[in-house]
Parts: sequence; structure tokens; C-alpha cells
Amino acid sequence: MAITKEPKTKDPRTTPAMRQYFSFKERYPTCVLFFRMGDFYELFGDDAILANRVLGLTLTERSAGLPMAGVPHHSAEGYFRRMIQAGHRVAVGEQTQDPKDAVGVVERAVTRVLTPGTLSDESLLDGDASNNLAAISFLDAGDADDGRVALAVVELSTGAFALIETTARAVIDEIARRNIDELLFAQSAAGQTPARAQKILDALDLSGTPRPGWQFRHAEAFEALQVQYKVATLGGFGFDDDDPSLAAAGAVIQYLHETQALDSRAEAPRLSHLAPPKREDPTEALLVDAASLRALEIERTMRPGSTDRSLLSVFQGAGQCRTAMGRRLLRDWLLRPLARLEPIQARQACVATLVCDERTSESLDRALSSIHDAARIAGRLGVGRATPRDLVALGSSLSGLDALIDAIANAPAFADHCNTLEGLRDALDPIAQDIVRLCVDHPPAHLREGGLIRDGVDAALDEARLLQSDAAAWLAQHQTHLIEKHELPGVKIGYNRVFGYYIELTTAQAKHAPPEFIRKQTLKNAERYITPELKEFEEKVMSAQSRALDREHHLFAELCQRCAAQAPAIRAFGQTVAALDCLGCFARLASRRGWVKPDLVAEPVLDIREGAHPVLEHTLGDRFVPNDAVLDAHDDQAATARLALITGPNMAGKSTYIRQIALIVLLAHTGSFVPAQSATIGLTDRIFTRVGADDALHAGQSTFMVEMVETANILHHATTHSLVILDEIGRGTSTLDGLSLAWAIAERLAGDTNSNKPHSTPTPRTLFATHYHELTTLEEELPGRVRNLHVQVREWGEEIVFLHRIAPGPADQSYGVHVAKLAGLPPAVVARARELLDTLSVTHDGAPDRPSVSAPARSAPPQLTLFREYAEHPAIEELRQLDLNAMSPIEAFDLLRSLRERLIDEHEIS
Ligand code: ADP
Repeated sequence: MAITKEPKTKDPRTTPAMRQYFSFKERYPTCVLFFRMGDFYELFGDDAILANRVLGLTLTERSAGLPMAGVPHHSAEGYFRRMIQAGHRVAVGEQTQDPKDAVGVVERAVTRVLTPGTLSDESLLDGDASNNLAAISFLDAGDADDGRVALAVVELSTGAFALIETTARAVIDEIARRNIDELLFAQSAAGQTPARAQKILDALDLSGTPRPGWQFRHAEAFEALQVQYKVATLGGFGFDDDDPSLAAAGAVIQYLHETQALDSRAEAPRLSHLAPPKREDPTEALLVDAASLRALEIERTMRPGSTDRSLLSVFQGAGQCRTAMGRRLLRDWLLRPLARLEPIQARQACVATLVCDERTSESLDRALSSIHDAARIAGRLGVGRATPRDLVALGSSLSGLDALIDAIANAPAFADHCNTLEGLRDALDPIAQDIVRLCVDHPPAHLREGGLIRDGVDAALDEARLLQSDAAAWLAQHQTHLIEKHELPGVKIGYNRVFGYYIELTTAQAKHAPPEFIRKQTLKNAERYITPELKEFEEKVMSAQSRALDREHHLFAELCQRCAAQAPAIRAFGQTVAALDCLGCFARLASRRGWVKPDLVAEPVLDIREGAHPVLEHTLGDRFVPNDAVLDAHDDQAATARLALITGPNMAGKSTYIRQIALIVLLAHTGSFVPAQSATIGLTDRIFTRVGADDALHAGQSTFMVEMVETANILHHATTHSLVILDEIGRGTSTLDGLSLAWAIAERLAGDTNSNKPHSTPTPRTLFATHYHELTTLEEELPGRVRNLHVQVREWGEEIVFLHRIAPGPADQSYGVHVAKLAGLPPAVVARARELLDTLSVTHDGAPDRPSVSAPARSAPPQLTLFREYAEHPAIEELRQLDLNAMSPIEAFDLLRSLRERLIDEHEIS
């Protein structure tokens, strides 16, 4: 909304406070500035208009037509959070001086810059989800799909820092798997967003932050890293100093310095908790692309608002992880499962131990339950925003180290975890002990009035505190003394913030006040006085109070600094705790649900017996029908094929079946047990899915186009070790087109038929659910390569019952009309459809690789010509030939009438 008003003579920029405001605004032009004025944070100009729209704040006006909106300071965090969630960046202009001490304008400074990917305050973060900032650097010129790209990912709230080199093609999936909240990219010299960055932002609906191009230049980036880590070379972190991917890492560091290290007076070294960048190899993970993550509903359900049926939801509820660190890591384990055998087997061994050994699992559970979010506390220590409660929570968490070690010490599977924890003891024990020794168990939320440090642990603090507690006794004694001395029984001593200590007399007694009483204030029924003696006492008490407070601040800062110096050890502790927690969670679920340990093997096979869908088996309970899935299992003669075609009516359970296989394979690669009676699973490099287009995310592309783009991706990149899940390929186009495409795609995935050598193109394990029955002939045409499966259905007269049981062979019919009836289509429409069905059939015209649809097969009513060729009506040619300019209006009208009559007549004849 625009506010227009005649300019007034006084320019709002001329008041000192507004000059401060505009100078901040100039320094942080891309931020929404919340500017502290007394008890409110005010927003001005466009920021106020934005706040009106995003936060629903009432818009008022500052003088000279400047829009203004405000939020009370005590509830400001909630408004900050909503602004950030809406994708904006927030700068907080704080009063850095007590207004009482100000001569002229109060001193202010921008003390915080909050951006979607750099949150560290507990109030702004979701404990169960990580908050990540990334910078992308395109290492090759041009837009080639295989151009190299570096991605630096920092989790400021914990200090984790990963550097990944990948390709332009793969980077979108990489970002999708890593929960990135904000992406930094180099803007062009003209200040524009480069097309390749825009493409990523659009594909993932991400908040992007343009940065000056020079920050991505190697020299500047390298220097930023040298300064941050105080090193001359990055060789110690495993990087060549000229590694081009360091550009992305340096760009992140420069951004963090600008937005986080604002307060140059801070005692603690800023961002000290940031780990050095760690190179991650994308091939270490089982790759699940962004579309498949959505389609398989790993992290969230596809349809927003519906009940959460994601894979993640299976691990929530009663059996869930005990710590926030574990919950965050679990999400990561599900989004980026492992690709190599040994680490998977190491996790499996731990889960197996906990499943079998109740004592170990119970003591681990107990030890974990008392651990707080140490990783994020380390993060807040690093940005100088830790609170007294953070410190105490850290102390009690680190004190749990021994209990953790004891819990797993006797279990060989946990030897690595145990060694890591043992190795941290020297660094963590002293700080844990000191925090526990020095700090009270239940500290205040902030240190404004002290109350963090225990009595009896610091002599200077005790002395100052004694003076304060003695004050109460001294005042009581002094009051008695005054009453007696002046024979004034009504004397009371009180305290208020304005006058400090005072003596109060009722109005009636005031006339007897002795001369040394100096009147300070007259109330309705009383007079208040001070005396030199009382003033002197007050100063002593006050200075003791501020001395005590200073001392507490000092001790707090010292402890924080010592903890901050141990950030790497705290982070390692947090990572180990999180991993133990996830393993515990896997074990609980395995025990409760009777899941089994999958056998992972190097050959790309699949042999799942009595497998279940991890979400549905729980919601449906006994009604869930488990199913086998066997592909290329050499001990099973019938099942050497690598492609299974699944046919059956809609609603029979085809999608559920193929998704459950993908989910079991994915779970097996996280180290979790799986819902099955037994499972042998070949190590998998990628899971591809093509199941129903997600239209909202592909605005502007037709469903069919999306389907084909995704399928093309699969055909280009699936390897023999991939798993491919296809649901209803070719639906978005005409029947003939769709069938032909589905046919060709199935052939290709089953092995290239154009080549003399079988399997000359990679043949991934493929599950292909389709309603094209014609495809089932592929089993005969590509013997040993394609296997037909169908979902069993039983007919009872006109009714059908879905058995949800997968059996060999093709489905005998499609039952579409039955399903439509179940769905409540009006009976007359169902009856008519049945009638039509009897007149139509879909056949092959003899050439197996050229499927066609023809009608009708039987002696059918002749008028049914669904596939009639479209021919132009002669009237159209007549219209084309008309010379409108040579016709009168009446002639034109006559022609129109005659055309219409001809059309009506023809319709009635046919
Ligand atoms: P299709 O893909 O064949 O149209 P779905 O897989 O969507 O069918 O399944 C339809 C419904 O059938 C599901 O919502 C589920 O409630 C039920 N269902 C599917 N598979 C099973 C099963 N194995 N056991 C019990 N119910 C199932």
C-alpha cells in the first residue's frame, strides 16, 4: 500500500535518531530493520509496509509521511521469526546505552543480523531440524550440465562445515538432501542473479542471497579462510591451497563475518566454534534425487495438510530419539543413506546389539535422556549468545559422559563410539566439573540480576553478596533505632528505584520529623525523607550489588570462553551422542515392530520376503498384507529377471508395493532394520522414482513433460546398481503414445534390444507398475529379463475384493469400471460404461513391438467410432473463402443462418 502525503517542512532524516536509523539502513540495505525506540522496535518506510503485509502490523505514520509500524520489545522474537520464515533477513538496531545515561540521542548499534540460514537463538530454531547456510560456486564457465560446482554448507548453530564438489546437474538434488535454508551466490557485475543460480532457487523454492562476485574469487576466499582458522595453508584440512572449491567456503565465511561478528567489543572470539571445512564425497551416499525424496515421502507427506505419513514419522512418537541432536541426525540419515558396505554394517551391528542386549539398551537410553542440545549450545557460545541456562545445560550434559561410556563399554559393536568418547574426557571433564561446581542447578534465563553462581565458590562474590544480605538486617536495626531515638513509632524504611532508600512518616507524624530528615517526596498520606546516614549506606549496598553482578558476569564470561575453546570436543561429543541416539531409535523400532536385519551384498540383487510398507503396516495393523519382492536372485530360477511389471486394477496396491520396496531398500542403507521376514539387498548407488508428477513444483510444465523429463533422467543415469520405481508411465498423453513410450522404456530398462549382446545397457533393478496390459507380453519377448507380477483380485458376481497379494503372471483384466463403482460414480454411468466396455477391446495387430488400440472387436453398435479420424467440415473452407468486405450486413447474416441450419440438419441425420 502506498501512503502519499504532502511533504512537510521538517525532513524526518534530520532528527538524530532517524539519522541513526538511515545510517543503519544504508549499511544493511537488504535487511528489514527493527529499530529499538524505548519499549518498541519500530519499522519505517518500505519495511513498515512489508511488516504490515507479512506480520499484519498496523501501519501508522511518522512525521513527513513516513510509514511506520512497531512491535513491543518483549514479544519481538516471535515477529523476527515470522519475518525470517517468510524468507526475509532481519537486522536488529539495539539501544546499546541506558537511555538514562544518554546525553542527547541514545547510542544504538546493529547487534544482530538474522537470516534464514544463520540462526542460532533457541527461540528462532526448530530443535528437530537443522538450519543450514550454503554457498554455491560454479567452477566452469557456461551452462553445461556436467559443469563442476562447489557447494559449501555451514550449520552455524552447531559449527558443522561441509564442502562438496559435484556437477551442475546433480547440485539441485544435493541441496534438496541437505535441508538448505539460504543459498549464497555471486551476482553478476550488473547486480543480477545469474540464470543458473535462479534455476536452482526456483526448482527448490529457496531463499537466495546475492553476494558480490569478488567474494567468490579464489584469492579473497582463501584469505577469509586463513583469517578465520588462523592458518597460512589449508593443507592441514586436506585441501590444496589452489583448490577451486575453496571459493565457496571462503564466500560463506565472509558472509558469516559480516552478519554474525558484529560486536567488536565481544570478549569471546567470534565464530570460534566453526569447524574447518570437511570435504564430502557425494558418492559416499546412496543418492535419492529431489523428486524421489518427495515422491517416496521420506521427510514429509506430499499433500500438505494431510496426516504425516512420511518415513520420518515412523521414527517419531514414543520410540523416537531422546535428544534433539539425534532427531536432527536421523533426518539426515534418512535423506542421505550410506552407499558403502562397511559403515552400513557397522551401524547394523550396533542396532543388533541393542535389540538383543536389553541391559545395554536400557542404560544407553537412560544416559541419553539427560543430555541437552550441546551442539547448539556450542554454536551459541561461538556467536557470543549463550545464556546462563545454556551453560548449565552444557555442564549437566557433559557430566553424562561417563554414564554414556559405561553404557556401551562392554559392547564390541560400539568400540569406535566408546573410543571417541574416551578421547574427549580430558577436554570435557574439567569444564563439566567447573560448571557444575560454580553454577546453580536452576539458573535464571538471563544474567541481568545475577543468580547464576553458587554461594561459597568465589570469595569476591561472597563478600559482595554478604553486604547485600546484611543490608536487610542493618535496615531493620536502623528502623528500630530511629523509632526509639525520635519516639516516632510510625517510622518505616522503604526502597524505590527513583529515590533509593527512604524513611516514611504518616502525614500526622510528619510534624515531629527531626531536622536531619531531608524531605524528598510528599504522598497523599505520607512524607518521605532521606538522611546522610541512609544515603551512605545505600551507596555501599548499591556498589556491593553492582560488584556482585560484575563478578558474576566475569565468571560467566570466563566459563563461556573456556567452553568455547573446547568447541571441537563439544561438537564431537554431540555427533557421537546423536549417532548413539539414532542407533537406539532404530533398535527400539526394530524390537517393537519385529523388523529384521537386512543382508546387504555387493551383487545387485533384491530378495525381500514378506516385506511390508513401513508406514502402512503400522496404520493398517493386521489388515496389511505383506509381499515378496524378488529380482535377479540367482537361487530362484523363476526370478532372474531384473524388471518386474506389475499389473492390476487401480486401488489394488501396486503403488504401495513398489514404494514399499524402495523404502525397504533405502532403510537398509541407513543401517536400520527393515519390515520384512528376511531381506537380501544388493548395494544400491541410486534410487530413482517416477511416481505421479508434483504439479505445484513444476509450474509451467505439463504433467506429461515432467514425467518425460524424469524418465529421461532415469534412462541416462541409472546404473546396474540402481533401483528404479516407475508408476504408470505414459499416462499424460494419448493411449497410443503412452503405450508406445511405456513399451520402449520398459524394453530399454530390461536391456537394450537393439544390441546383439544382452544387457549391453545398464539394467537397473526395476519395478514398473502399469495399467497397460499389452506390456505383459514383454515377459515372453524378453525371456529371463522381464517378469510379470499382478495384484490379486477376487470377483464376487459384480463385486470385486482386493486381496493386495502380489502373485506371478499378468492381471487378467483391469476392473476399472468396478473401481469407478466403488468410488461412487452414479449407477447409470457405471452401467453405460459396462455396455461400452463390451464393445471395445485393446489388441495387438500382430506385430509385437507395435502395439495399437483398435475398436470394436465384436459386432458392436456401428455408431461407436471413438477413434474416428478428424476431418475438416466443408463449412470451414467456405468461411475461409469469404470476402467479408464485399458483403452487406444482411448478406452476412443470411450466410451465418444458412451455415447454422446445415450443421443442425447434418447432426440430426447422423
Ligand atoms: P494402486 O497403486 O494399485 O492404485 P495403492 O497402492 O494406491 O493402489 O493402494 C490402494 C489402497 O489399498 C491403499 O491406500 C491401502 O489402503 C490399500 N493397500 C495397498 N496395499 C496393501 C496391502 N499390502 N495390504 C493392505 N492394504 C493395502
